[in-house]
Amino acid sequence: MSVTTDIWGDDIRTILVQSWHHQNAWIDAVAGLKILKKDYFVVVLANGTTRLQLDLVYSSQLSFHALFSSQLLGFTKPDPKMYQKVLELLNLEAKECIMVAAHAYDLRAAAKIGIKTAYIHRTTEDPEEDMQQVRKLSFEETVLTGLAPNGGLYIPTFIPKLPENWKEDWQGYSFVDISVAVLSLYISRDELSEQELRSLVMKSYASFRHPEITPLKKLEDKKYVLELWHGPTWAFKDVALQLLGNLFEFFLQRRNEKNPKIIEKLTVVGATSGDTGSAAIYGLRNKANISIFILHPKDRVSPIQEAQMTTVTDANVHNLAVKGTFDDCQDIVKALFADTEFNAKHHLGAVNSINWARILAQTVYYFLAYFSLRRAIGEDVDVQFVVPTGNFGDILAGYYAKKMGLPMAGKLGVATNANDILARFWKTGRYEKADSSPLDDSPSMQPAAGSSDGKQATQDNSGVKETLSPAMDILVSSNFERLLWYLAYVNVPEDESDRRGKAGEIVAGWMNQMKSDGKVEVPASVLETARQDFCAERVSDEQILTSIQSHFSGIPSYVVDPHTAVGLFAAERMAQHNGPSVVQVILSTAHPAKFSEAVSTALKETPNFDFEGQIMPKEFNGLLQKERRVVDVESADVDLVKSIIEARV
Ligand SMILES: *Cc1c(COP(=O)(O)O)cnc(C)c1O
Repeated sequence: MSVTTDIWGDDIRTILVQSWHHQNAWIDAVAGLKILKKDYFVVVLANGTTRLQLDLVYSSQLSFHALFSSQLLGFTKPDPKMYQKVLELLNLEAKECIMVAAHAYDLRAAAKIGIKTAYIHRTTEDPEEDMQQVRKLSFEETVLTGLAPNGGLYIPTFIPKLPENWKEDWQGYSFVDISVAVLSLYISRDELSEQELRSLVMKSYASFRHPEITPLKKLEDKKYVLELWHGPTWAFKDVALQLLGNLFEFFLQRRNEKNPKIIEKLTVVGATSGDTGSAAIYGLRNKANISIFILHPKDRVSPIQEAQMTTVTDANVHNLAVKGTFDDCQDIVKALFADTEFNAKHHLGAVNSINWARILAQTVYYFLAYFSLRRAIGEDVDVQFVVPTGNFGDILAGYYAKKMGLPMAGKLGVATNANDILARFWKTGRYEKADSSPLDDSPSMQPAAGSSDGKQATQDNSGVKETLSPAMDILVSSNFERLLWYLAYVNVPEDESDRRGKAGEIVAGWMNQMKSDGKVEVPASVLETARQDFCAERVSDEQILTSIQSHFSGIPSYVVDPHTAVGLFAAERMAQHNGPSVVQVILSTAHPAKFSEAVSTALKETPNFDFEGQIMPKEFNGLLQKERRVVDVESADVDLVKSIIEARV
């Protein structure tokens, strides 16, 4: 916790404390005042119509000299006129007052009439923490920059808490409404007005085929799936990337309008194991001032994914088929971002899940699912989310939702395929590329025939295993670094003066060790913290096939893609540790037609199964035959990729 006092002058004798209906903001404000430990004339402005608010004021034992009810003054929102009125009633001058608040909009209203302001920072973990001044980026900068210059990932300076009445206020909200409400907690109104944000969100989800955007579907009393694949490329990454594309375009356009002499352009570079690429391409095709280069491992994405990417022939879209693995592609992308000269010259932007806006966009559907479930089964829902995981983006969004205050009775379920670095972490506390201690409960490691759309699965020398769920075939999970920061933070002693900085150092150390040794072991206390919020399971290819079969023959019969199958299979195991009231929501990340080979392999013996007739959406007709545009990259070489980009931007 800190109060920025740099603008604190000697003439300040009065402190105004604003508190609306947000309990945490109030607690923050009071804690902030106590830090100051000086004799000031303290004026409290509270929303006096709610009993809770007054209870809060009294129970905080803050000694104050005047208390006003905002609502009795005639205001329900921060307004310069209200502060003017208070000053007049107390015969104070603006220049001798300072306003302390945890919300920027309170401060802005006060600043308009010349009251100085102090912003109180808070982290959800520790309100007493002394946050050091760090260089903070605006949302716009974070979105356009992607990776931090030191190679780290951006996280918000604090995780905002949900407004006190969110359950009542948001229950009838549409996807777009929830999206605006959640994003507004992270994005300052100075950067995007509510109107601007709403229109960007609406535009982004207009391309979805389902009115609810991410509908919840019941499979059993205690088992639901959240279908995230009703966007243009039939997989969940559309949810984030449709919005990201519009954010990119909006911010660039605004910058270029402000400064028409220099036209700012963005070169988006990304690596994909399939779904990110097509979703990014659909998010950015034909967008002004943006070129997009997507690297995919040649012949290691499904035919439909490959077709979805390479049949987009807009001039700003460039597909690079790299001889190598997904991790090779990702390493090249990381190297390009780390190359400051190249980065500055081409103004690189990221679409991989390292881009913070993607995580943020994905928190929205956890809330939507929660409300859908409440509508389906009543108000007291004990929910567990289970998420098929690769780069730890989708599930990290769930972690943020939880930390914001979304109730989750069950632990967040990490479901991995045979590339199980995460499942092993939760088992052992070791984050290591190579599997040095095979899990005792893991069945045979033999690859299933027909894996990855016809190719026999192999273990290549990088250690990535080809599985039936290729969008989760990773060696390391890029977003896991973000979780590690929170785990480290909780385990830094509270009396450490720069707790956040210390957590950052610890994570940097772990990541460096990972880079040099291919493994790192976290202290037991850190693992313990990780286990409080998450559980993890690994699912083999055989189990994926079993899961597809059993859900096809279930009632209702439901055809799932192999990634969703990982989630469903893991969920069954996780359910054994759940209380009887817990309802599972499994995130369904792709439409089965995108991974036809795995689905056909699983169901080929099943009577009455007709892939073309039952599963294939009509939109896929003729896709494989369409004209393509792709550049072959003969070796996984950074310089080669650089020269290709330079020749084409
Ligand atoms: C990307 C992807 C995943 C994994 O999501 P992460 O955010 O990387 O954990 C799962 N399923 C499908 C279909 C995907 O495209």
